[in-house]
Amino acid sequence: MNGKSDLSDVGAPTPSAEVWRARRVHWQDRATWFGALETWLERQWRPGGKARLQKRKLDLCWDDSHWLKALERHVQPSVETLIEGLAVDLAKAKLRTFHGCRVPDAGVFHREGLRRNDPTALEALARQLVTEDDDLAWMRPKIEAMIAEFDKRERDTGRLYVCADERPQLDHSGHYLLFGSEWLQCLLGWEAHRALKRYGTPTVVEVDLPFDWASEGTRREFARHLLREWTRVFVMGETFSPALDFSVILRRDIPAEVVVGHSHPKVLKNPFMQYLTERTADPTCPHCVGSAKG
Ligand SMILES: [Zn+2]
Repeated sequence: MNGKSDLSDVGAPTPSAEVWRARRVHWQDRATWFGALETWLERQWRPGGKARLQKRKLDLCWDDSHWLKALERHVQPSVETLIEGLAVDLAKAKLRTFHGCRVPDAGVFHREGLRRNDPTALEALARQLVTEDDDLAWMRPKIEAMIAEFDKRERDTGRLYVCADERPQLDHSGHYLLFGSEWLQCLLGWEAHRALKRYGTPTVVEVDLPFDWASEGTRREFARHLLREWTRVFVMGETFSPALDFSVILRRDIPAEVVVGHSHPKVLKNPFMQYLTERTADPTCPHCVGSAKG
């Protein structure tokens, strides 16, 4: 054994790898990846394997790992080898990702990009909120002590989170959009929720992330989801798009060039209030209003 896997040459580009070059992969929009993955898989089938897989009668939940076991029976390499090879080739693609937050003007992302968690900048914002919002007047004498004693100060330092599907974020993590940074929520506590909700507008930023900025482990995890979902749709035919809870943790800033848009959800679910829906008072920001005026 020379240690090489049975995919002809994992790590070196194969002709089919080129289908991913500069491709924008958006989980929810299967047209962006389903056909490309079918092309990519073309040389991996056992003789007649593709047709046999399509005829399988399988009644499995969308996220059941048995979809991959079903695929494995009809391809030559192991599924783990396919996942490894796909993770390498996906580095050429861009992943459509989303970042939920709360800002006064989303134009800042189009001008400056998104920044990693920086406790110094967040401390400054905490001071600003406490100074400007009379709801937090009682915190003014003690805000410096709160900052000095904040034991979770470094909880997310240097990290930036984006996700591949905004639906789970809107359904289960609405607090990032309702109250903003989790860091601020932790520092200021429940009593600040009303003030945090007055600051800025709930915003979902859209980013076409060069996928090689994510770790190989993250790409492998996504490759697993993609192969499983491809198999399910190939067997079941046209079907719903499942909401995928998938985060990418970056340790770098995101420059403005890859920020492709933003939106402001009109309604959010509050996870601290049994997912009660809350309507956004004004789902616009100066950037949207300015763009609408042209
Ligand atoms: Zn806006």
